[in-house]
Amino acid sequence: MNPVPFVILYLIPAATSAALAVYAWKQRHYRQAGPFGLLMAALAFWSTCHALSVADMTLEGTLFWSQLQYGGVVLVGPLLLLFALAYADQWAWATAKMRVVLYAPSLLLFIAVMTNESHHLWWTSVAPDTSRPFLSLAVERGILFWVHTAYSYLCILAGIGLFIHTMLEAPPIYRYQAQLVVIGAFIPVAGNIAHLLGLQVRWVDDPTPFLFAATSLFLFYATLRYQLLDLAPIAQREVFESMPDGVVVLDRQGVVAMINQHAPDLLAVEPARWVGKKFVTLIDHSPLAPSLRTVLSTPATPASQRVQYAGEDGLHGVEIRLRPLHTGRGTYAGSLLVLRDTTERVRMEQALGRRLEELTIINEAARATSAAMQVDDVLRTVTHAIVRSLRWDRVAIGLSQSDGQTLQLVVDHARDAGPSLEGQYLSANDFEPIMKVLHTRQICVLQAGDHRSNDTSVEGMLQGLGLRMMLSIPLYSQSQPIGVFFLGSRTAKNISTNEIRLAETLGELVTEAVMRTRLYEAAQQASQLKSALLATISHELRTPLTSILGYEELLQREIFGPLPEHVREPLGNMRHSGLILLRLIGDILDFSKLEAGLFTIDLHPVDLTSVVNNVADTMRPQIYERGLSFHVELADALPLVRGNSARLEQVLTNLVSNAIKFTDTGAITIWAEQRGSHVRLSVQDTGIGIAPEHQAVIFREFYQVQNLHTQRVRGTGLGLSISRRLIELMDGTLSLESAPGVGSTFRCDLRLATVSTLEQVQVRE
Ligand code: ADP
Repeated sequence: MNPVPFVILYLIPAATSAALAVYAWKQRHYRQAGPFGLLMAALAFWSTCHALSVADMTLEGTLFWSQLQYGGVVLVGPLLLLFALAYADQWAWATAKMRVVLYAPSLLLFIAVMTNESHHLWWTSVAPDTSRPFLSLAVERGILFWVHTAYSYLCILAGIGLFIHTMLEAPPIYRYQAQLVVIGAFIPVAGNIAHLLGLQVRWVDDPTPFLFAATSLFLFYATLRYQLLDLAPIAQREVFESMPDGVVVLDRQGVVAMINQHAPDLLAVEPARWVGKKFVTLIDHSPLAPSLRTVLSTPATPASQRVQYAGEDGLHGVEIRLRPLHTGRGTYAGSLLVLRDTTERVRMEQALGRRLEELTIINEAARATSAAMQVDDVLRTVTHAIVRSLRWDRVAIGLSQSDGQTLQLVVDHARDAGPSLEGQYLSANDFEPIMKVLHTRQICVLQAGDHRSNDTSVEGMLQGLGLRMMLSIPLYSQSQPIGVFFLGSRTAKNISTNEIRLAETLGELVTEAVMRTRLYEAAQQASQLKSALLATISHELRTPLTSILGYEELLQREIFGPLPEHVREPLGNMRHSGLILLRLIGDILDFSKLEAGLFTIDLHPVDLTSVVNNVADTMRPQIYERGLSFHVELADALPLVRGNSARLEQVLTNLVSNAIKFTDTGAITIWAEQRGSHVRLSVQDTGIGIAPEHQAVIFREFYQVQNLHTQRVRGTGLGLSISRRLIELMDGTLSLESAPGVGSTFRCDLRLATVSTLEQVQVRE
């Protein structure tokens, strides 16, 4: 008997398993490598002990090694089950307690086999078997052996069940590997069952180690070929599951091969089972369905889409990306669908958009409030902007009336034209909660059906306007209530603090606008009253003054009898003063009419030559009286200008009178010449001139430069202001060029009379 070849035979599975155990040890950072390595180590131990039992030529030795090999045998079942749990991604089951429960029977059974001599429950009899070319044992199996067999098979069958389940669930790329693992697990089971049923091979007393060695080779092949350990499905799945994106792998037919835990959430659908089913039918109820269908319509080309949809808890955003998957040979194998949650970004963009909208509205309202001159205009602009851009369906503003108990709705603007309450009054008796807002200065939210709006009139108003809720904001200025700002919504909604702050800001703008425009209106009214009063007074003064001057003239003409010589001079002074007074009254009357907007002027083609000659004839005596020389320089064939001859004479007289007043020596010249589409009429003097700082302001009403001349000759300071306005009413301009000590030149630029202006036009300021 030479056992060496048989020892070598048994060492083959021992070496194979040991090599795989070492390999698994190196890969131990993968979860499956642990139980796989231990399984291989148990097989290596089993085969080694068996080889030693064959090598030993004594009965005691053979018996000892045969018993010791069970140290590996009893562990094969539990370890295979643990490996299957890890492989099937069910490692959560393999808790420490569970592992103790699994190993405990193995330990007890190993103790039982080692102590068989004392109880014979494992093997009831042991005898040398010399039928083989080496010494082996012929045993009668006892009850504990069958307990061990049953326990091992229970574990192994559970493990195989898990392998089969994994194989069926595995995505295509792992399917071959899973099949190899299942076949590998079946081989020793089939062989062992045959062995236990009595199938004998002469050369081998127990084929199980060989069969397990075959399993090991299968797994080794799976390890090399499909990288069982390095790219283990579990590790892959862990990465896959822990990805923040939703990932779906679809095969060529669009059937789900793999889906991670985030994908259903992002797809917003949760069917019972994804894997193995057609993707497009599963996402029927997903809000992403239309975009997904578009993206998947050409699954072999990369595509991406951004989707936004409103969920129950607000806006959601998902970015869909499709990447086709190709085999090594470049043929299309399926697609990878990646879903990225962009909700945060979308919501941030939405918030930014709202903020921008709010700022735009505030800006629009601020512009309206600073530009408008009437309360109604401002309120209308603000309410329209709110309804157009914000989430409110109706905006109204009620202004408090003088009794403090009534509000008048000055604006009521709805998104779609409905019944308007504009112009209506709300009284404290009818709308108590609303008036409370005004007096307590507390913002109030009235909801239809709410206890606070229990007031039937408010409830009725809300219902009548089709509103579910209304936000009422008090408007007050310097602690005086001025009104209430109402924002209504057709749907019940939560009002954010931002919305309340925006409404308050708009309320403040409205308040400011109301106050400002009220002041403006009051000032306007006062100014008009003042102008009307001035006009009346000047008119009333002029009548008796004209009469005084008339009697003076009759006296001068000695209609009432001859005049003593000494009376003539005071009478002349009286006339002079009367005429000055008449001019002043005329100026004030013109000014007040201009201010009150009651001044009208007829425009017609005017011959400037006759205007200038008339004024020159009237003023010449006064000019010569002051010892000044006087020149009139008119261009030949001056064209007609657009204007009013009487008013032009008034302006020219005023300019020449000023020139006389402020010139002590030298000359006064009147020019007129055509300059393009204008005719320039100038009055030049060599008088005291006007300092630059006064040049712009002398055109203001009642402005006079204080000097000896203005003290000597009294004026109103209205002449230039009225002159400029008159020239402007004729579409012309009045300007000045002056240097102190040199003289001044006042220029009127008047437009040429065109064919259309030859018709008489009435202009009202
Ligand atoms: P009034 O002559 O009644 O004072 P005006 O409006 O005609 O009012 O003139 C305003 C002021 O402009 C005058 O008080 C004077 O100081 C200044 N002014 C007007 N014309 C001249 C001028 N030709 N030379 C110097 N100062 C002038």
